[in-house]
Amino acid sequence: MTRQAITLIGGGLVGALLAQLLARRGFEVDVFEKRPDPRQVGFVGGRSINLALAERGLQALRTAGLSDDVLPRAVMMRGRMVHPLEGTSGLQRYGVDDSEVIWSVSRGGLNMLLLDAAEAAGVRLHFGQSLVNADLDARRMVLADEEGTMRPHDAPVLIGADGAGSALRTVMDHYRPLGIRVEPLGHGYKELEIPPAAGANRFAIEPNALHIWPRGGYMCIALPNTEGSFTVTLFLPAQGPHPSFDTVPDSAAAAAFFRQDFPDLLPLIPRFAEDYDSHPVGGLSTLYLDRWHIDGRALLIGDAAHAIVPFHGQGMNCGFEDTVVLADLLAESGRDTGDAFAEFQRIRQPNANAIAAMAVENYIEMRDSVADPRYLAKRELGAR
Ligand code: FAD
Repeated sequence: MTRQAITLIGGGLVGALLAQLLARRGFEVDVFEKRPDPRQVGFVGGRSINLALAERGLQALRTAGLSDDVLPRAVMMRGRMVHPLEGTSGLQRYGVDDSEVIWSVSRGGLNMLLLDAAEAAGVRLHFGQSLVNADLDARRMVLADEEGTMRPHDAPVLIGADGAGSALRTVMDHYRPLGIRVEPLGHGYKELEIPPAAGANRFAIEPNALHIWPRGGYMCIALPNTEGSFTVTLFLPAQGPHPSFDTVPDSAAAAAFFRQDFPDLLPLIPRFAEDYDSHPVGGLSTLYLDRWHIDGRALLIGDAAHAIVPFHGQGMNCGFEDTVVLADLLAESGRDTGDAFAEFQRIRQPNANAIAAMAVENYIEMRDSVADPRYLAKRELGAR
């Protein structure tokens, strides 16, 4: 019997995991990824260097048989370590013990592990191949290689895991409007780094925590990396009165701002000026679509369908959860692809919308309430 062919656009976190799950369920899977193979050339860019992996994402990795490979390369985070401007830092645990924790994982490392797993499951990976257009009636797409040379390719069933800027979404929306709504947060982010410390304890601050420096309308966070460094992310209004990325345009202004607002953090970042001046400001938006698919021909998944702001650390986790639901639906015998896509949207869209709203709310909690004495008093009474 011929195996059903599925074409995936994007070999990022969600695309690579979905490809592995589908191949293990007997599909013939091709993945077309715009970037070169990160296992050959190193991981290019990416919006955050490390990510918080939570139970939802971990459960999907267990289904794929990969959690035992991922967890040894992750750092456990038991809770939030809150650094107020004045007073002492304190850990707010996520649960009663280490059964309720989250994990800090390297985006690049995880992506490469997932690509290896997909390839081992029989997926054909094609790097340096961008989707530029598709004819959904003829079931063909147009790909461009790194030199810009175009070529057509058959694609009876297309799944777009090509992220927040999805090219497949644009193609689908032209074919039949998807009801796209983008809600910009009005805040941006910039990544900085705390390097490993000298000496036996490789970490300059507590390793097993997600660090937060809440300052009301803005904040810094830091997540640990296995080799002892921390990825710091500054979240700040994009424009407007001080402080905003407009009023803190370069490292000189930023150093003065940090000396005042993050005095304990600044000395931990020795390459502050280089990091600040060379790393771009990233934008943050929530993406809502009314429709995630065009009957059985094309579907969007992960950030391509529901990009969210990162304050619950759930974008990848939610995308991982998507992959298991979709792979199961497609594998159910007798189910037509259009039916499976419709059912996927029916099941997953309310969840994606809920986490999108919670992620925006959590920005306010993280940058503000976690340092509010009333919030801390509530937590002591058992509220989370
Ligand atoms: P992506 O990771 O964007 O991957 C898309 C892939 O498609 C890329 O490899 C890209 O090269 C490829 N591609 C794009 N266009 C084309 C094309 N035309 N043709 C072929 N290939 C293409 N989530 C968490 O769960 N925990 C966190 O702690 C967390 N922190 C975050 C912090 C920040 C600052 C940000 C911005 C996001 C964070 N997220 C987090 C969200 C997470 O990064 C995303 O949800 C996740 O990367 C989505 O995976 P994806 O595979 O859908 O998209």
